[in-house]
Amino acid sequence: MQLRTRALESILLEKGYIDPAALDVLIETYEKKIGPRNGAQVVAKAWVDPKFRKWLFEDGTAAIGSLGFGGRSGNHLVALENTPSVHNMVVCTLCSCYPWAVLGLPPLWYKSAPYRSRTVADPRGVLRDFGLELPKDTEIRVWDSTAELRYLVVPMRPAGTDGWNEDKLADLVTRDSMIGTGLPKQPKDLK
Ligand code: FE
Repeated sequence: MQLRTRALESILLEKGYIDPAALDVLIETYEKKIGPRNGAQVVAKAWVDPKFRKWLFEDGTAAIGSLGFGGRSGNHLVALENTPSVHNMVVCTLCSCYPWAVLGLPPLWYKSAPYRSRTVADPRGVLRDFGLELPKDTEIRVWDSTAELRYLVVPMRPAGTDGWNEDKLADLVTRDSMIGTGLPKQPKDLK
């Protein structure tokens, strides 16, 4: 895969389609500047601000855009609400579509064939592999990302966080909790 990528890059360079400096900036941006911290800010705001929360579920792209996240892969972002009865989980069965604008680069497992196929056939089993055992009566909804439509899971706010500000709450929001393969940290985990 690395060889193929390099071969593609040199052909595109040779033909003048890409500027290597621009590529470096893009890679640097997604590796260092854009990461799950962006999504965590969105989730934390949804936990404290009911108006933002409502907007987020009505028009994810606009609400997330208001925080300065979007563009490129964030063209259409849909926020999914976890509740005591519904747990949402995101996959791209076809390839690896992922909400880069809010989560940064996807983890390797997200692109793996077993995750992509098993999440549809046996979501509960996949969650178990991630160490997450949900109550039997919790409905698991699996969402298939595409190049046009990408999803951000908004996990439930952990108990014992009354009065916390957004920054502190954002520290509880893990990348996996926004993909649906994990839950947010608990207050005791921060110590
Ligand atoms: Fe994809």
